[in-house]
Amino acid sequence: MIKQVIQTFLTANNYAHLAPKAVLFDMDGVLYDSMAFHARAWKATADQYDIRSTQAEFYLYEGRTGHSTIDLLVERTFGRRATQEEKEEIYAYKSTLFNKIDRSCPMAGAAAVIEKVRASNLNRLVVTGSAQGSLISKLSESYPDAFDPKLMTTANDVINGKPHPEPYQRGLAKAAAQPYEAIVIENAPLGVESAVAAGIFTIAVNTGPLPEAVLRYAGAHLLYPSMEALAADWDLLMASIAELNNQ
Ligand code: CA
Repeated sequence: MIKQVIQTFLTANNYAHLAPKAVLFDMDGVLYDSMAFHARAWKATADQYDIRSTQAEFYLYEGRTGHSTIDLLVERTFGRRATQEEKEEIYAYKSTLFNKIDRSCPMAGAAAVIEKVRASNLNRLVVTGSAQGSLISKLSESYPDAFDPKLMTTANDVINGKPHPEPYQRGLAKAAAQPYEAIVIENAPLGVESAVAAGIFTIAVNTGPLPEAVLRYAGAHLLYPSMEALAADWDLLMASIAELNNQ
């Protein structure tokens, strides 16, 4: 089953093989169980600025840069573009509020996935739409020696956020890897779209409230209900890649 999925991916992308040397991890919803706090902070921020929204919709925008989410909300509510000052003020409000309410823990099973990836001798990098220093500095505490902070891609490194392929293309460049030399782990539809558009084999973990179909529709090559489930299947995935490469 996994072999067939990889074969279909190779054919669709015109790759001779999948030869991973790096795994690109999304952060919120993959390494941290933080999305509920983000959704709550976004909703309260929108209310503060008289912007119409529902808490649930913020799961669909996950992965976008904050400024692009604000653009979308202001356009929809007021029928005009947000100004640069508004974007900065509203995002600052949301970030401050998030930091105040954030009680997010490392995602269950994420440490196990990282250990599997490490044991497979693959480099580990983070590619996030977040620009919040708070979450970024938590990484080395939660996952000691798992990620090199210099190789992180954040909202500050890109012009176009997810679903544009640029964040994952930047991640590939930092990993010195071609698209067929990496694997992405994502939880959000826009993140999956971004990784797939960058030509990378993309594993979705559905750690939030969205239906699985949304992640499949975004183009996920493999889909797991949790990071624990991915960790449990990791050796099989590596064995399947090796078998295909030895054929
Ligand atoms: Ca995410």
